[in-house]
Amino acid sequence: MIRRFLPDEPKQRLRLKRNLAASAASLIYTIMAIYLYLEGYFRLDMDVLMIIMVVYWLGLFSFTFIIFTGINMRLPDPSMTLVQMYWSIPFMMLMVYALNDLRNIILLAFFALLSFGSFRLTSRQFFTITLTTLLVYLATMILLYINHPLRMHIDKEILHFIGFSLTSVLLVYTGSATSQLRERNRLQNIKLRKALEENRTLATTDDLTGLITRRHFMEILGKQKAWSERDGSDFVICFADLDHFKYINDSFGHHTGDVVLQTFADIMRKSIREIDYAARFGGEEFVMLLINTDIEQARTIAERVRSSIENYNFSDLAPALNVTVSIGLANFKQFNSIQETLMCADNRMYQAKENGRNMVIDE
Ligand code: GH3
Ligand code: MG
Ligand code: MG
Repeated sequence: MIRRFLPDEPKQRLRLKRNLAASAASLIYTIMAIYLYLEGYFRLDMDVLMIIMVVYWLGLFSFTFIIFTGINMRLPDPSMTLVQMYWSIPFMMLMVYALNDLRNIILLAFFALLSFGSFRLTSRQFFTITLTTLLVYLATMILLYINHPLRMHIDKEILHFIGFSLTSVLLVYTGSATSQLRERNRLQNIKLRKALEENRTLATTDDLTGLITRRHFMEILGKQKAWSERDGSDFVICFADLDHFKYINDSFGHHTGDVVLQTFADIMRKSIREIDYAARFGGEEFVMLLINTDIEQARTIAERVRSSIENYNFSDLAPALNVTVSIGLANFKQFNSIQETLMCADNRMYQAKENGRNMVIDE
């Protein structure tokens, strides 16, 4: 049932969960304090104890409220771990001051509090909060000794304090180790995410031309099909194959072939709109996906690509070089299947080859 009230954002969810866990622990300590009061362990009036508890719980509720409403997102540390921890310390010390023989129970509560810090605190913050607590505890003891010397066994208290300090040092050490481990984990995660991103780029982008790969193009086609089926829009697939490319490679060299491929990719990129896609399908075969376009408009674009490469001036690269392309077009609406549309565009491209190359065929 609690799940329904947790925020959707994973980090906020975790923050609220931890805040609620800390509140649940505080509730147990509060019940224990009331029990100890009733058993006469406290040197405190009921109304003073009540005021302390009410103020303490108002603080806890405020933290829950701040996280629940998302106000914490505007703070430098949205987890508010330190603030929440520091909030508890004065109340613990008040209990230490007011409890008679059993004040060491509160020290145990402090260790429970510190363990919450290991989720979030840096080594330095860990050290600071522990040192602060030790000093405040020492000050409380001194105050107690000055005001109520008879309520203390000074040698026992000194031993308790030494034990408390030693355990705290150990906790700071393990807490710091956890915090370093967490930091290393975080950095590794960042590296991993970067590597995944690179991997994705490799899988989706063709090295030579910078166009998207066949695989990625097929994914996009799948999505486009779903869109078009939903809103009834047209899209056209253009299949382009450079003419006599083997001859270009053989006559002018492989490097020249590569530059031709890059030039053709640039021409395609410049001929289409932002919403369209151009991909290298493999070798010297390219495809374009023209969205919201009918066959007439697609023909104009394909013609522009065809004439651009035909008229491209390669004189810097190889004076005698002339490049042409054969293109086949097919409208998805005519087939309602990606495979059939692709096949039709491919067939029309071959038809263009058979009819003499350097042309666009759309029927
Ligand atoms: P057609 O007009 O019938 O299409 O003839 P073609 O020579 O273009 O067709 P073919 O499929 O016989 O040749 C394609 C050539 O493209 C063969 C291959 O060596 C070359 N090729 C494929 N990938 C690359 C590449 O990345 N760089 C270079 N330079 N050449 C490539
Ligand atoms: Mg080919
Ligand atoms: Mg070819």
